[in-house]
This record gives sequence, C-alpha cells and structure tokens, in this order.
Amino acid sequence: MSANNGEQMLNTAKEIIGSTCQSLGIEQDVIDRIIEPDSIHEVTLDLERDNGRITPIKAFRIQHNNLLGPYKGGIRFHETVNRSEVQALATLMSIKTAVVNLPFGGGKGGVVINPKTLSQGELRRLSQNYVAKLANVIGEDIDVPAPDVNTNPTIMKWMLAEYEKIIGRKSPATFTGKPVTNGGSLGRMEATGRGGVFVLQELLKRLNGGNQSKMTIAVQGFGNVGYYFALIASQLGHRIIAISDSKGAILVENDNDSFDLNAVQNCKKELATVTQCYCVNGVCDSKRGKKISNEDLLELPVDILVPAALENVINTENMSKIKAKIIIEMANGPVSAKANEYLKRNGVLIVPDVLANAGGVIVSYLEWVQGKQRYWWTEEKVNLELEKIIVAAFSDVWTHGKEKNISLTESAFQVAVQRIVAAL
Ligand code: NAD
Repeated sequence: MSANNGEQMLNTAKEIIGSTCQSLGIEQDVIDRIIEPDSIHEVTLDLERDNGRITPIKAFRIQHNNLLGPYKGGIRFHETVNRSEVQALATLMSIKTAVVNLPFGGGKGGVVINPKTLSQGELRRLSQNYVAKLANVIGEDIDVPAPDVNTNPTIMKWMLAEYEKIIGRKSPATFTGKPVTNGGSLGRMEATGRGGVFVLQELLKRLNGGNQSKMTIAVQGFGNVGYYFALIASQLGHRIIAISDSKGAILVENDNDSFDLNAVQNCKKELATVTQCYCVNGVCDSKRGKKISNEDLLELPVDILVPAALENVINTENMSKIKAKIIIEMANGPVSAKANEYLKRNGVLIVPDVLANAGGVIVSYLEWVQGKQRYWWTEEKVNLELEKIIVAAFSDVWTHGKEKNISLTESAFQVAVQRIVAAL
C-alpha cells in the first residue's frame, strides 16, 4: 500500500472512531485519547545478506492501545508498508479485540521488504533482527505479535526462538500463529473461516426465527479464509455456487449444484487456479462450469456474498449492481465507506470485518492462553471456545444494533468503543 493509501486508511479509521464516539456522546479529549496510539516504534533493521553485506531496512511496531490487555496484532512484510498503514491497522486491531471482548489491545508491525526477493537465510536473519531491535517492547504480557501479510508460522517460530534467546527463558505466549509443533494451537488454520461461519449461522437464526435455511453463497478469494469459510459452510448444507481467485471465477452450471470444496482445493493445488477446477460431487471436469470474471462474481444474485480476498472490492463503481441481500466481510475492508452507506440504504445487511473475520484473533488468544498455561487443548476444545466467544460477540453487536436501530457495522464500533472507554 502506498504512503498515500496508508494515510487515507488511517484517516478513515480515525473518522469512523471519531464519529462513533460522537454518536455515543463521548467528549473530545477522550476521543483524542482513544484515537492516538500509545507508542510508535520505528527502527532500522540490519539485513545481513548472504554475501555478508548489510542492507538497512525500515521497520515498525505500533502499539495503539492496551487498555483491555497486552497489544495484539500481526507483523507484515511488504515493500510498500508504511507508518500510516501500520498505525491504521493497529487502531483497527484495538477495535477488533474489543468487539469480541478479548483481554487484548491493538498493535501492528511492518517491515518494508518484499520477502520474495530474499533467500531463506536472509529472511530468517531479518526476522530475528526485527525481534532483536524490538525485544524490549514486546512480551507475553506486553505486546503479542502474530503473522500477517507475507509472514507465517515458520517466521513466528524463528522470532520466538530469538526472543527467548534474548530474555534467557521460555515464553511461548509472546508470539501466536506458531507451528503446532512449536506451541501453536490446533484449529488456528481454519479459525478465521470457521468463525465467519459461526457468525453466519447466528445471523440466519436471528433473521429466520431459528429456521436454519440453506443459502446460496458466492465466495471471492479461495485462500486460507475463503476456502475454510466455503468448506465449513458447505458442510452445514449451504450451497457454494461461485468461487474465485486472482485468476478468475467459476459459477456452477446447474442452478441446484454446489461446488465440492475439497475436490476444488485438491485440483487447485495441482493446476494453480480454480478456473480450471469445475468440481461437483467429487468429480472434476475442467470443460464444464461457467467461467466468469471476478467482477461478475460480486454481482451474482446469491443470498450471501462473501468477499474474502482484498479491500475495497465493493465500491462506488459496482455498488449499484450488488444483488446479494447479505454481505459477510471476511477480508479486511472489502466494502468502501461510501458503498457501505449506499448498500445500507438499500437494505443490504453487512456483517463488518471486525466481527466476521475475528475468528483468527480469537484462536490467537486461545493459543496465548494455552501458551501461558503450558497446556495444549484438543481441536474440539479450541473450536468450542471459538464458538462461545464469537457467538457472544455477535449477540452483543446484534442486540446493541437492534436497541439503537443502527447497522451492524455501527453497532460493532459502538460496542468496541464503549468497552475501551469504560477501561479508561
Ligand atoms: P490468502 O493469501 O491465503 O488468500 C487470498 C486469496 O484471494 C487467494 O486465493 C488469491 O488468489 C485471492 N485473490 C487475490 N486477488 C483476487 C481478486 N482480485 N479476486 C478474487 N480473488 C483474489 O489470504 P487470506 O489469509 O485468506 O486472507 C484473505 C483476506 O482476509 C485478507 O483481507 C486478510 O487481511 C483477511 N484476514 C485474514 C485472516 C487470516 O487469519 N488469514 C484474519 C483476518 C482477516
């Protein structure tokens, strides 16, 4: 994201928190305190190249707010990452952890690098150096990082090992998103998609008076979040009738069909794109199925649209063509602010990202709890705890929204801000 886009993202985050506070009658000095980050750590890393030379690399850790508990948020590696973007993301983490009532605040990290240009050794040394430069401001009760764009469980394992070397003792709860063999939690991989499906089921209960009807669903993005959302929703009987990745989208041929997600996933692993993979009932046939564009997928007449890829994909250009009556924001920020307003006026129900995709941070919290106790749970236990937390959060947001006659997005921000302000 360019510096301008980062700036824009930060302004949007500040505006939405500001207007939420105003609608709650919160005074300006309190609003300013809620918006401003606690600390901004900007450091220069020493990237030791394979040839022994050192390249300076800019990096950040921004700690937005720890009123509810240690700062929590991922570290992204990207060549365009910038301070405003990291600050915006840290701010939104404070909201997300508060919406789902976790004992965490919000933080975010960034390293200005394209990791694909590095050798494995360089990537490892850079990850270790990030920790070496910031070890004094992180820790299991201070600030708990996790993976984000272009970082993964292996990088968390390297970072934790470096941190433990520096402090001279074990501290598995300092990083989450670790491999299961290194203190990670079972269920973390599926957590964001699974959490989104719990939210969907709760929503349908409220809308249909407990009658869990089967919905038609289009999912944009067939990565970690989109795949598990689609898979788990289809296991509950919903029909996934369109899916896409960066190369394009496919729609079922027959109106009554539903994609076989396991088969599509296996096929995609082989052929690298879902558009080659028309898989229904365990049979894959690349000649069948309708190939459509990513734009077409968003405009399909489905019951539920699930953007699970990129931000801003539903915007002023296509908002009038959206036909779904429910949008579950599984990506971060997939619906622009203007499109959100327009769709709300037109009766579209949008479940906001800070609630819908919070399953990941919830299971990160459960990993932290397990790490602190040095006692690791079964996957069933993790999934049950995830369900309890996200269902309670949905219920809070739904009830508050009904009481105040506001959208779920407005309600989620109000619930979060009230919790943060109450802790002041
Ligand atoms: P991922 O990289 O695993 O998957 C992204 C998918 O989107 C890929 O299949 C890619 O091909 C597809 N894609 C890219 N451009 C596209 C386009 N123009 N049209 C359709 N598909 C496109 O990423 P992920 O972890 O699944 O994350 C997806 C979104 O969810 C991101 O916005 C991320 O910030 C958000 N999110 C992820 C998590 C998590 O736990 N992974 C948690 C919260 C939020």
